[in-house]
Amino acid sequence: MNKLRALKEKRQQIINKSPSLKKILRSTISKYYLTCGYKKCWCHQGKKKHGPYIYLSAKEKGKLKMSFVPKELIKEVKRGVKNYNKLWDDLCEIARLNREILWLEKKKR
Ligand SMILES: [Zn+2]
Repeated sequence: MNKLRALKEKRQQIINKSPSLKKILRSTISKYYLTCGYKKCWCHQGKKKHGPYIYLSAKEKGKLKMSFVPKELIKEVKRGVKNYNKLWDDLCEIARLNREILWLEKKKR
C-alpha cells in the first residue's frame, strides 16, 4: 500500500471513531464537600461534611460558570468531558495527517 493511501485510511478511521459533536461537554469536574444550613447538624462538628457534590465548571463568555450535576447525570457528564478531550486529540491528529497528505499530493502533481 502506498503511503498516501495509508495516511488517508488512517484519517478515515479517526473520523469514523470520533465522538459525536452532540455528545461533548467542555468542563472541569469538581467535587465539593459542604456544610448545610442546619447549625446542629453533624456536618458542623468539623469532621465530616455533606457530599461529595459534583459541579461542572467552564468558562462561558469569559466568566466561570458552575453547574451542579445531579446524581443521575454524573455518568453522562463524565462521558461528555471524555468525549471532548478525545475529539480535541482527534482534531490535532487529523490536522497533522491533512498536512502530510497535502504535501504528498503536491509532490505527485
Ligand atoms: Zn449538615
